[in-house]
Amino acid sequence: MSFDTDVVIIGAGIAGLATGYATSRRGLETVIIEQEAGIGQGVSSRNSEVIHAGIYYPARSLKAKLCVAGKQMLYAFCDKHRVPYSRCGKLVVATTTEEEPRLDAILAQGLANGVDDLQRLSGDEVRSLEPHLKATAAILSPSSGLVDSHALMLMLGGEITRHGGAIAVNTPFAGATPLEGGGFVVRTAGEAATELTTRYLVLAAGLGAQAAAARVDTYPAEKIPQRHLGKGVYFSLAGKAPFERLIYPLPIPGALGTHYRRDLGGQARFGPDLDYVDTLDYEVDPARAASFYDTIRRFWPDLPDDALVPDYAGIRPKIHGPDQPQCDFRIEGTDQHGLAGLVAMFGIESPGLTSSLAIGELTVKRLALA
Ligand SMILES: Cc1cc2nc3c(=O)[nH]c(=O)nc-3n(C[C@H](O)[C@H](O)[C@H](O)COP(=O)(O)OP(=O)(O)OC[C@H]3O[C@@H](n4cnc5c(N)ncnc54)[C@H](O)[C@@H]3O)c2cc1C
Repeated sequence: MSFDTDVVIIGAGIAGLATGYATSRRGLETVIIEQEAGIGQGVSSRNSEVIHAGIYYPARSLKAKLCVAGKQMLYAFCDKHRVPYSRCGKLVVATTTEEEPRLDAILAQGLANGVDDLQRLSGDEVRSLEPHLKATAAILSPSSGLVDSHALMLMLGGEITRHGGAIAVNTPFAGATPLEGGGFVVRTAGEAATELTTRYLVLAAGLGAQAAAARVDTYPAEKIPQRHLGKGVYFSLAGKAPFERLIYPLPIPGALGTHYRRDLGGQARFGPDLDYVDTLDYEVDPARAASFYDTIRRFWPDLPDDALVPDYAGIRPKIHGPDQPQCDFRIEGTDQHGLAGLVAMFGIESPGLTSSLAIGELTVKRLALA
Protein backbone atom coordinates (compact mmCIF):
# COMPACT_ATOMS: atom_id res chain seq x y z
CA MET A 1 0.00 0.00 0.00
CA SER A 2 1.24 3.51 -0.65
CA PHE A 3 0.85 6.17 2.02
CA ASP A 4 0.44 9.94 1.75
CA THR A 5 3.43 10.32 4.05
CA ASP A 6 5.86 8.18 6.06
CA VAL A 7 5.51 9.80 9.50
CA VAL A 8 2.87 11.98 11.15
CA ILE A 9 3.84 13.59 14.46
CA ILE A 10 1.21 15.19 16.69
CA GLY A 11 2.66 18.25 18.44
CA ALA A 12 5.32 20.80 17.45
CA GLY A 13 6.87 21.20 20.89
CA ILE A 14 10.50 20.31 21.49
CA ALA A 15 9.78 16.55 21.63
CA GLY A 16 7.79 16.49 18.37
CA LEU A 17 10.31 18.73 16.60
CA ALA A 18 13.30 16.68 17.77
CA THR A 19 11.51 13.53 16.58
CA GLY A 20 10.74 15.18 13.23
CA TYR A 21 14.41 16.12 12.95
CA ALA A 22 15.37 12.46 13.55
CA THR A 23 12.87 11.06 11.02
CA SER A 24 13.29 13.67 8.28
CA ARG A 25 17.10 13.37 8.44
CA ARG A 26 16.68 9.67 7.69
CA GLY A 27 14.85 10.53 4.48
CA LEU A 28 11.38 9.76 5.87
CA GLU A 29 8.69 12.14 4.65
CA THR A 30 7.50 13.79 7.87
CA VAL A 31 4.42 15.89 8.64
CA ILE A 32 4.02 17.58 12.05
CA ILE A 33 0.50 18.56 13.07
CA GLU A 34 0.20 21.41 15.58
CA GLN A 35 -3.03 22.88 16.93
CA GLU A 36 -1.54 26.27 17.83
CA ALA A 37 -0.70 29.06 15.37
CA GLY A 38 3.04 28.45 15.71
CA ILE A 39 5.59 25.92 16.90
CA GLY A 40 6.71 25.68 20.53
CA GLN A 41 3.76 27.37 22.22
CA GLY A 42 3.08 24.65 24.80
CA VAL A 43 5.14 23.35 27.73
CA SER A 44 8.28 24.07 25.70
CA SER A 45 7.60 27.82 25.85
CA ARG A 46 7.33 27.98 29.66
CA ASN A 47 10.33 26.37 31.28
CA SER A 48 13.72 27.25 32.78
CA GLU A 49 15.74 26.61 29.60
CA VAL A 50 18.31 24.76 31.70
CA ILE A 51 20.53 22.16 30.08
CA HIS A 52 20.59 19.57 32.84
CA ALA A 53 23.63 17.39 33.44
CA GLY A 54 21.60 14.26 34.37
CA ILE A 55 22.46 14.15 38.06
CA TYR A 56 19.28 13.45 40.00
CA TYR A 57 17.38 10.75 38.15
CA PRO A 58 17.33 7.08 39.18
CA ALA A 59 20.11 5.05 37.51
CA ARG A 60 19.05 3.40 34.24
CA SER A 61 15.82 5.44 34.08
CA LEU A 62 14.96 7.00 30.74
CA LYS A 63 15.31 10.40 32.40
CA ALA A 64 18.91 9.62 33.40
CA LYS A 65 19.92 8.01 30.11
CA LEU A 66 18.20 10.47 27.78
CA CYS A 67 19.33 13.51 29.77
CA VAL A 68 23.01 12.50 29.76
CA ALA A 69 22.93 11.57 26.06
CA GLY A 70 20.62 14.45 25.10
CA LYS A 71 22.85 17.05 26.78
CA GLN A 72 25.80 16.07 24.60
CA MET A 73 23.67 15.97 21.45
CA LEU A 74 22.19 19.36 22.34
CA TYR A 75 25.55 21.09 22.80
CA ALA A 76 26.76 19.60 19.51
CA PHE A 77 23.57 20.68 17.70
CA CYS A 78 23.83 24.22 19.12
CA ASP A 79 27.48 24.48 18.05
CA LYS A 80 26.72 23.23 14.55
CA HIS A 81 23.62 25.40 14.02
CA ARG A 82 24.66 28.46 16.04
CA VAL A 83 21.82 28.21 18.54
CA PRO A 84 22.64 30.52 21.49
CA TYR A 85 23.57 28.72 24.71
CA SER A 86 25.83 29.13 27.72
CA ARG A 87 27.70 26.32 29.45
CA CYS A 88 27.57 28.40 32.64
CA GLY A 89 27.79 25.49 35.11
CA LYS A 90 25.70 24.88 38.17
CA LEU A 91 26.09 24.63 41.94
CA VAL A 92 23.82 22.33 43.94
CA VAL A 93 24.12 23.70 47.47
CA ALA A 94 23.79 22.45 51.02
CA THR A 95 22.98 25.46 53.19
CA THR A 96 23.52 23.64 56.51
CA THR A 97 25.76 20.75 57.52
CA GLU A 98 22.58 18.70 58.15
CA GLU A 99 21.85 18.90 54.40
CA GLU A 100 25.25 17.52 53.40
CA PRO A 101 24.36 13.80 53.54
CA ARG A 102 21.62 14.51 50.97
CA LEU A 103 24.12 16.44 48.87
CA ASP A 104 26.47 13.45 48.96
CA ALA A 105 23.65 11.12 47.91
CA ILE A 106 22.97 13.40 44.91
CA LEU A 107 26.68 13.37 44.03
CA ALA A 108 26.72 9.56 44.16
CA GLN A 109 23.59 9.42 41.97
CA GLY A 110 25.12 11.76 39.41
CA LEU A 111 28.32 9.70 39.23
CA ALA A 112 26.25 6.51 38.87
CA ASN A 113 24.41 8.15 35.97
CA GLY A 114 27.69 8.76 34.15
CA VAL A 115 28.00 12.49 34.92
CA ASP A 116 31.74 12.19 35.43
CA ASP A 117 32.79 15.83 35.77
CA LEU A 118 31.08 16.59 39.11
CA GLN A 119 33.18 18.13 41.90
CA ARG A 120 32.39 18.40 45.59
CA LEU A 121 33.30 21.83 46.97
CA SER A 122 33.75 23.08 50.53
CA GLY A 123 32.02 26.24 51.74
CA ASP A 124 35.22 28.26 51.16
CA GLU A 125 35.61 26.89 47.63
CA VAL A 126 32.00 27.84 46.90
CA ARG A 127 32.59 31.40 48.13
CA SER A 128 35.65 31.75 45.91
CA LEU A 129 33.40 31.06 42.92
CA GLU A 130 30.24 32.87 44.06
CA PRO A 131 31.07 35.30 46.92
CA HIS A 132 27.43 36.07 47.82
CA LEU A 133 26.30 32.45 48.06
CA LYS A 134 25.64 30.88 51.45
CA ALA A 135 26.59 27.22 51.40
CA THR A 136 28.40 24.81 53.71
CA ALA A 137 29.21 22.60 50.70
CA ALA A 138 28.16 22.21 47.07
CA ILE A 139 28.38 20.07 43.97
CA LEU A 140 29.81 21.87 40.96
CA SER A 141 28.39 20.60 37.67
CA PRO A 142 30.45 22.17 34.88
CA SER A 143 28.37 20.64 32.05
CA SER A 144 25.08 22.27 33.10
CA GLY A 145 24.00 25.28 31.09
CA LEU A 146 21.25 27.31 29.46
CA VAL A 147 19.85 27.24 25.93
CA ASP A 148 17.67 29.62 23.94
CA SER A 149 14.81 27.13 23.59
CA HIS A 150 12.90 29.19 21.02
CA ALA A 151 15.95 29.53 18.77
CA LEU A 152 16.47 25.78 19.18
CA MET A 153 12.91 24.97 18.14
CA LEU A 154 13.05 27.36 15.18
CA MET A 155 16.28 25.73 14.04
CA LEU A 156 14.81 22.22 14.36
CA GLY A 157 11.74 23.37 12.39
CA GLY A 158 14.05 24.78 9.71
CA GLU A 159 16.02 21.54 9.53
CA ILE A 160 12.80 19.52 9.17
CA THR A 161 11.60 21.61 6.23
CA ARG A 162 15.09 21.56 4.71
CA HIS A 163 14.87 17.76 4.74
CA GLY A 164 11.52 17.87 2.95
CA GLY A 165 9.21 17.72 5.99
CA ALA A 166 6.20 19.95 6.70
CA ILE A 167 4.74 21.55 9.83
CA ALA A 168 0.99 22.25 9.66
CA VAL A 169 0.01 24.82 12.31
CA ASN A 170 -3.59 25.70 13.29
CA THR A 171 -4.28 22.01 12.73
CA PRO A 172 -5.79 20.10 15.67
CA PHE A 173 -5.46 16.33 15.64
CA ALA A 174 -9.00 14.87 15.55
CA GLY A 175 -8.22 11.16 15.54
CA ALA A 176 -6.55 8.19 13.87
CA THR A 177 -7.60 4.71 12.81
CA PRO A 178 -5.12 1.86 12.34
CA LEU A 179 -5.28 0.36 8.84
CA GLU A 180 -5.37 -3.34 8.19
CA GLY A 181 -1.89 -4.33 7.05
CA GLY A 182 -0.20 -1.40 8.85
CA GLY A 183 -0.27 2.35 8.96
CA PHE A 184 -2.96 4.82 10.00
CA VAL A 185 -5.55 7.20 8.64
CA VAL A 186 -5.05 10.49 10.49
CA ARG A 187 -7.88 13.04 10.70
CA THR A 188 -7.39 16.71 11.46
CA ALA A 189 -9.97 19.28 12.54
CA GLY A 190 -10.08 23.06 12.11
CA GLU A 191 -10.60 25.18 9.03
CA ALA A 192 -8.65 22.90 6.70
CA ALA A 193 -9.95 19.61 8.15
CA THR A 194 -8.52 16.73 6.18
CA GLU A 195 -7.42 13.10 6.24
CA LEU A 196 -4.09 11.58 5.34
CA THR A 197 -2.55 8.14 5.52
CA THR A 198 0.79 7.50 7.18
CA ARG A 199 2.98 4.51 7.82
CA TYR A 200 4.05 5.71 11.29
CA LEU A 201 2.34 7.87 13.90
CA VAL A 202 3.99 9.63 16.86
CA LEU A 203 2.03 11.30 19.66
CA ALA A 204 4.13 14.10 21.20
CA ALA A 205 1.28 16.23 22.48
CA GLY A 206 2.62 17.38 25.87
CA LEU A 207 -0.31 18.32 28.10
CA GLY A 208 -2.61 16.89 25.38
CA ALA A 209 -0.92 13.46 25.40
CA GLN A 210 -3.76 11.60 27.10
CA ALA A 211 -6.45 13.19 24.89
CA ALA A 212 -4.42 12.42 21.75
CA ALA A 213 -3.96 8.75 22.69
CA ALA A 214 -7.68 8.44 23.48
CA ARG A 215 -8.42 9.63 19.91
CA VAL A 216 -6.52 6.71 18.37
CA ASP A 217 -9.00 3.89 17.72
CA THR A 218 -8.12 0.70 19.64
CA TYR A 219 -5.49 2.45 21.83
CA PRO A 220 -5.99 0.56 25.11
CA ALA A 221 -7.55 2.97 27.62
CA GLU A 222 -5.81 1.24 30.54
CA LYS A 223 -2.43 2.11 28.98
CA ILE A 224 -3.13 5.84 29.12
CA PRO A 225 -1.72 7.23 32.39
CA GLN A 226 -3.70 9.78 34.36
CA ARG A 227 -2.68 13.39 33.75
CA HIS A 228 -1.64 15.58 36.68
CA LEU A 229 -0.84 19.27 36.26
CA GLY A 230 2.24 20.44 38.19
CA LYS A 231 2.23 24.22 38.02
CA GLY A 232 5.40 26.18 38.74
CA VAL A 233 5.72 29.96 38.91
CA TYR A 234 8.75 32.19 38.43
CA PHE A 235 9.72 35.55 39.91
CA SER A 236 12.30 37.80 38.30
CA LEU A 237 14.74 39.91 40.28
CA ALA A 238 14.59 43.70 40.12
CA GLY A 239 18.31 44.40 40.23
CA LYS A 240 21.68 43.03 39.22
CA ALA A 241 22.07 39.27 38.87
CA PRO A 242 24.01 38.10 41.97
CA PHE A 243 25.51 34.85 40.63
CA GLU A 244 27.15 33.66 37.40
CA ARG A 245 26.18 30.01 37.69
CA LEU A 246 22.87 28.23 38.07
CA ILE A 247 22.16 27.80 41.80
CA TYR A 248 20.02 24.89 42.96
CA PRO A 249 19.07 24.16 46.54
CA LEU A 250 18.35 20.50 47.33
CA PRO A 251 15.37 19.02 45.44
CA ILE A 252 11.84 19.05 46.85
CA PRO A 253 9.47 16.05 46.48
CA GLY A 254 8.31 15.96 42.83
CA ALA A 255 10.63 18.67 41.45
CA LEU A 256 14.16 20.06 41.54
CA GLY A 257 13.16 23.03 43.70
CA THR A 258 13.16 26.78 43.26
CA HIS A 259 16.45 27.60 41.62
CA TYR A 260 18.31 30.65 40.41
CA ARG A 261 19.37 31.38 36.88
CA ARG A 262 20.79 34.34 35.03
CA ASP A 263 19.23 33.95 31.61
CA LEU A 264 21.06 34.49 28.33
CA GLY A 265 20.01 38.16 28.36
CA GLY A 266 21.41 38.70 31.89
CA GLN A 267 18.07 38.74 33.78
CA ALA A 268 18.04 36.91 37.12
CA ARG A 269 15.04 34.64 37.73
CA PHE A 270 13.92 32.27 40.48
CA GLY A 271 11.56 29.32 40.16
CA PRO A 272 9.68 27.15 39.54
CA ASP A 273 7.89 26.00 42.67
CA LEU A 274 5.40 23.13 42.49
CA ASP A 275 1.65 23.34 42.99
CA TYR A 276 -0.77 20.68 41.73
CA VAL A 277 -3.67 22.42 39.93
CA ASP A 278 -6.84 21.34 38.09
CA THR A 279 -6.85 23.78 35.16
CA LEU A 280 -4.40 25.25 32.67
CA ASP A 281 -4.13 28.59 34.43
CA TYR A 282 -0.88 30.52 33.92
CA GLU A 283 -1.52 33.37 36.36
CA VAL A 284 1.30 34.12 38.83
CA ASP A 285 -0.16 34.79 42.26
CA PRO A 286 2.02 37.54 43.83
CA ALA A 287 1.28 35.99 47.26
CA ARG A 288 3.56 33.08 46.38
CA ALA A 289 6.49 35.50 46.74
CA ALA A 290 6.51 34.92 50.52
CA SER A 291 7.71 31.33 50.19
CA PHE A 292 10.20 32.40 47.50
CA TYR A 293 11.83 34.93 49.87
CA ASP A 294 12.18 32.17 52.49
CA THR A 295 13.66 29.64 50.09
CA ILE A 296 16.03 32.05 48.35
CA ARG A 297 17.35 33.63 51.55
CA ARG A 298 18.57 30.24 52.69
CA PHE A 299 21.21 30.41 49.93
CA TRP A 300 21.22 34.18 49.29
CA PRO A 301 20.67 36.00 52.61
CA ASP A 302 21.23 39.40 50.93
CA LEU A 303 18.05 39.20 48.82
CA PRO A 304 16.52 42.68 49.39
CA ASP A 305 12.87 43.11 50.40
CA ASP A 306 10.48 43.87 47.49
CA ALA A 307 13.03 42.68 44.90
CA LEU A 308 10.93 39.82 43.46
CA VAL A 309 8.57 40.60 40.59
CA PRO A 310 5.91 38.08 39.43
CA ASP A 311 7.08 36.74 36.07
CA TYR A 312 5.56 33.70 34.32
CA ALA A 313 4.28 30.18 35.00
CA GLY A 314 4.68 26.77 33.40
CA ILE A 315 2.71 23.56 33.85
CA ARG A 316 4.44 20.18 34.02
CA PRO A 317 2.66 17.31 32.22
CA LYS A 318 2.98 14.98 35.21
CA ILE A 319 1.76 11.39 35.39
CA HIS A 320 2.08 11.11 39.16
CA GLY A 321 0.11 12.86 41.86
CA PRO A 322 1.45 14.84 44.83
CA ASP A 323 1.77 11.81 47.11
CA GLN A 324 3.15 9.39 44.54
CA PRO A 325 6.79 8.76 43.62
CA GLN A 326 8.10 10.73 40.65
CA CYS A 327 7.61 8.82 37.36
CA ASP A 328 9.97 8.21 34.50
CA PHE A 329 9.27 9.42 30.94
CA ARG A 330 6.95 7.04 29.11
CA ILE A 331 7.86 6.69 25.44
CA GLU A 332 5.74 3.75 24.44
CA GLY A 333 5.88 1.53 21.38
CA THR A 334 4.16 -1.64 20.24
CA ASP A 335 5.42 -3.66 23.23
CA GLN A 336 3.54 -1.37 25.59
CA HIS A 337 0.27 -0.59 23.76
CA GLY A 338 0.08 -3.25 21.05
CA LEU A 339 -0.29 -0.93 18.04
CA ALA A 340 2.38 -1.40 15.36
CA GLY A 341 3.94 1.77 13.95
CA LEU A 342 2.89 4.02 16.84
CA VAL A 343 4.92 5.75 19.56
CA ALA A 344 3.12 7.67 22.31
CA MET A 345 4.89 9.96 24.81
CA PHE A 346 3.55 10.68 28.30
CA GLY A 347 4.97 12.60 31.24
CA ILE A 348 7.62 14.51 29.27
CA GLU A 349 8.36 16.94 32.09
CA SER A 350 11.88 18.06 33.08
CA PRO A 351 14.48 17.18 31.77
CA GLY A 352 12.51 16.93 28.50
CA LEU A 353 14.12 19.96 26.89
CA THR A 354 17.65 18.69 27.60
CA SER A 355 16.70 15.15 26.53
CA SER A 356 14.81 16.17 23.38
CA LEU A 357 17.29 15.06 20.71
CA ALA A 358 17.80 11.73 22.50
CA ILE A 359 13.99 11.36 22.80
CA GLY A 360 13.83 11.76 19.02
CA GLU A 361 16.44 9.04 18.51
CA LEU A 362 14.72 6.68 20.97
CA THR A 363 11.40 7.21 19.18
CA VAL A 364 13.00 6.26 15.88
CA LYS A 365 14.32 3.11 17.58
CA ARG A 366 10.92 2.28 19.07
CA LEU A 367 9.47 2.54 15.54
CA ALA A 368 12.20 0.09 14.43
CA LEU A 369 13.60 2.70 12.03
CA ALA A 370 17.07 3.14 13.52
C1 LIG B 1 8.03 24.92 34.74
C2 LIG B 1 8.85 23.99 33.88
C3 LIG B 1 10.24 24.10 33.88
C4 LIG B 1 10.99 23.23 33.08
N1 LIG B 1 12.34 23.42 33.02
C5 LIG B 1 13.08 22.61 32.25
C6 LIG B 1 14.49 22.83 32.14
O1 LIG B 1 15.03 23.78 32.66
N2 LIG B 1 15.21 21.92 31.41
C7 LIG B 1 14.64 20.87 30.78
O2 LIG B 1 15.37 20.07 30.19
N3 LIG B 1 13.30 20.68 30.81
C8 LIG B 1 12.51 21.54 31.51
N4 LIG B 1 11.16 21.38 31.55
C9 LIG B 1 10.57 20.32 30.77
C10 LIG B 1 10.38 20.69 29.29
O3 LIG B 1 9.93 22.02 29.16
C11 LIG B 1 9.39 19.71 28.68
O4 LIG B 1 9.82 18.39 28.92
C12 LIG B 1 9.24 19.89 27.18
O5 LIG B 1 9.07 21.24 26.83
C13 LIG B 1 8.06 19.07 26.70
O6 LIG B 1 7.98 19.21 25.31
P1 LIG B 1 6.81 18.51 24.52
O7 LIG B 1 7.12 18.69 23.10
O8 LIG B 1 6.60 17.13 25.06
O9 LIG B 1 5.50 19.32 24.95
P2 LIG B 1 4.92 20.70 24.36
O10 LIG B 1 5.97 21.70 24.22
O11 LIG B 1 3.73 21.05 25.18
O12 LIG B 1 4.47 20.30 22.90
C14 LIG B 1 3.29 19.58 22.65
C15 LIG B 1 2.59 20.23 21.49
O13 LIG B 1 1.48 19.43 21.12
C16 LIG B 1 0.45 20.29 20.72
N5 LIG B 1 -0.80 19.56 20.81
C17 LIG B 1 -1.40 19.04 21.91
N6 LIG B 1 -2.56 18.45 21.57
C18 LIG B 1 -2.69 18.57 20.23
C19 LIG B 1 -3.69 18.17 19.31
N7 LIG B 1 -4.79 17.51 19.67
N8 LIG B 1 -3.53 18.49 17.99
C20 LIG B 1 -2.42 19.16 17.57
N9 LIG B 1 -1.45 19.58 18.41
C21 LIG B 1 -1.59 19.28 19.72
C22 LIG B 1 0.56 21.44 21.72
O14 LIG B 1 -0.09 22.60 21.23
C23 LIG B 1 2.05 21.61 21.85
O15 LIG B 1 2.58 22.55 20.94
C24 LIG B 1 10.36 22.24 32.31
C25 LIG B 1 8.97 22.15 32.31
C26 LIG B 1 8.22 23.03 33.05
C27 LIG B 1 6.72 22.97 33.01
